[in-house]
Amino acid sequence: MQKKHTPLLILGSGPAGYTAAIYTARSLITPVLISGMQPGGQLTQTTDIENFPGFPEKISGTELMDRMRQQAENLGTIIIDQSAVNVDLSQRPFTITLDNEEIYTCDALIVATGASAKWLDLPNEDNLRGFGVSACATCDGFFYRNKKVAVIGGGNTAAEEALYLANLASEVFLIHRRNELRCEKVMQEKIKAHPKIKMIWNSVVQNYIGDKNNGGLTGLILKNTLTEEESQLSVDGCFVAVGYTPNTELFRGQLELTPEGFIITDKTSLKTSVEGVFAAGDVQELFYRQAVTAAAGGCRAALEAEKFLSEIKK
Ligand code: NAP
Repeated sequence: MQKKHTPLLILGSGPAGYTAAIYTARSLITPVLISGMQPGGQLTQTTDIENFPGFPEKISGTELMDRMRQQAENLGTIIIDQSAVNVDLSQRPFTITLDNEEIYTCDALIVATGASAKWLDLPNEDNLRGFGVSACATCDGFFYRNKKVAVIGGGNTAAEEALYLANLASEVFLIHRRNELRCEKVMQEKIKAHPKIKMIWNSVVQNYIGDKNNGGLTGLILKNTLTEEESQLSVDGCFVAVGYTPNTELFRGQLELTPEGFIITDKTSLKTSVEGVFAAGDVQELFYRQAVTAAAGGCRAALEAEKFLSEIKK
């Protein structure tokens, strides 16, 4: 298949990718953005967003991402709803192969591929995924109307999932391995005040009970982290919210990564270990991982990519 060339290619369609597109499109570069498997990224799986500046009445994750996409398109970004399946960064122009076998080359690349939900990696987790075990309350919560569900984790995601599910389920058990939540204080207060949410502290899931061919999940085996005591909890659904892992498989061996797989960048310029490749958003963010910080990173990577493109033209 014939290769198509673009000066700048952006991988990813979360706030970092779209912001990078908005900035570079305004500098008349006409970026090509490959949206990936989940256009809009992780925010399309959250509910209401209260902390993205400019939306005093809050905004849904999907709407925020739709607006960013529209803005990027209005300014001239070419958006392709495909995933990259191969990337060759060994020489410039870089080569990116998509899952429809189209091949792009580019002089500069912004990696904004984000992160994906982590699982507990328990023996029957794969068997029960989609049959009672989920990592997305907004996608699957509907199936648990007036049923009992558990949420695993203590961060902002777990808190949001628990609050969302509490509107649907009869009872929500929030199971955390310590005795203090990691999520923001305002979320902690909402959790504490909600009559349907019950905290189970100092506990981890040892295993899931149930079989996908026989009604799916029926309960959890829990272990108290202080006493090591085991117990069973009957639930119809379990939502895993124990953090995220960066989507960097394509770059292994090509870009410098941390042991956890995050892309290592210069903290000011977001340059990676390969000249002409920049990374922004959750794929390189170890601490903040917010929509607004990802968007800010997309802006920085865009400005640096523009500078790089004008320097190699000279
Ligand atoms: P997170 O902040 O990394 O929290 C993960 C939680 O899961 C922690 O409470 C952790 O326990 C627990 N955990 C990790 N591995 C576990 C395991 N194997 N078994 C049991 N529990 C485990 O992840 P997140 O909540 O997904 O949030 C990710 C980032 O996105 C954060 O920076 C967060 O602030 C941001 N975020 C923001 C918003 C918002 O602002 N509205 C919404 C969602 C996410 P410990 O606490 O003991 O480590």
